Amino acid sequence: MILVTGGSGLVGKHLKDILPDAVYISSKDYDLTDLQQVRDMMSEYNPSVVIHLAARVGGILDNMTYPVDYLEENVLMNTNVLKASHEFDVDRVIAILSTCIYPDKVDTYPMVEEDLFNGPPTPSNFSYGFAKRCMAAHIDSYVKQYDKKWSYLIPCNLYGEHDKYEEHNSHFVSALIRKIHEADNEIQLWGTGKPLRQFMYGGDLARIIKYIMDNDIVENLNVAPEEVYSIDEIANIAKSSCFKPELLVNYDYDKPDGQYRKDVDSSKLLKLLKDFKFISLSDGITKTYKRVAREW
Ligand code: NAP
Repeated sequence: MILVTGGSGLVGKHLKDILPDAVYISSKDYDLTDLQQVRDMMSEYNPSVVIHLAARVGGILDNMTYPVDYLEENVLMNTNVLKASHEFDVDRVIAILSTCIYPDKVDTYPMVEEDLFNGPPTPSNFSYGFAKRCMAAHIDSYVKQYDKKWSYLIPCNLYGEHDKYEEHNSHFVSALIRKIHEADNEIQLWGTGKPLRQFMYGGDLARIIKYIMDNDIVENLNVAPEEVYSIDEIANIAKSSCFKPELLVNYDYDKPDGQYRKDVDSSKLLKLLKDFKFISLSDGITKTYKRVAREW
């Protein structure tokens, strides 16, 4: 039996599209910050595989306003899920981290998996970054002490039709798609437009998680397309991909940029995936836009 935490989130819904027979858990089913509820969940389903997606995830503003909540909720959820997975003898745990957990700055880019602990995470999501880094150390410890077949993936920023478009803190590309859809002449973005980012379609991450599970790959791996774009380049790609190339893009320089760059090298992963191709940012945005705009 495969159990997926965070089943109601962006990644969880993309995974459900291609792995419908797993059990998908949301916070309404079990609050993973409560160890007893996590034990109840494990006892109910007795899974052999846990795909741990659940996390408190949010934008820069939310991260900067509620750092304690980001740290505590993520540390509690991750600790409880790993502890109960051990108690209930779960064979495979695949946990999802994030490239936000990497150091704010390193000497050479793109970053490789070995860079993970080479400096503190960026200040704008320090608590989230540290909490999720702690899970990497926690899984590594279970592997060392108990010889577990547990591992983690470190994906870049995501977008896709299953994001929450109604919320003010939806992820950057999703929020951008909505802004472009609603704009007549111009859109305004935070910061300078200069930071560099990799963005992946949520369905691509879901396909990779399934491949890793199906092929019993137990390695800790970065997951990101090779292309790195500035925020301004992404805005321009998104304008064309949402069929509004004429829109103006203005920047609010008083708002924070966040980390300047955090691009990662996925060559370890790509050697293991046979013939895998990431969907391009422009095609992924068009695909997402066509699906979400039907509801607007
Ligand atoms: P999301 O859309 O915000 O969904 C979060 C999921 O976690 C939801 O299913 C939510 O349940 C669940 N959850 C939150 N608090 C919980 C609690 N106390 N108990 C039980 N469940 C709880 O997140 P996502 O974008 O799918 O992200 C999935 C994973 O990928 C996360 O680990 C995230 O760190 C990682 N990641 C995401 C991105 C990105 O850009 N989205 C990038 C890199 C890595 P409810 O729906 O009931 O609240």
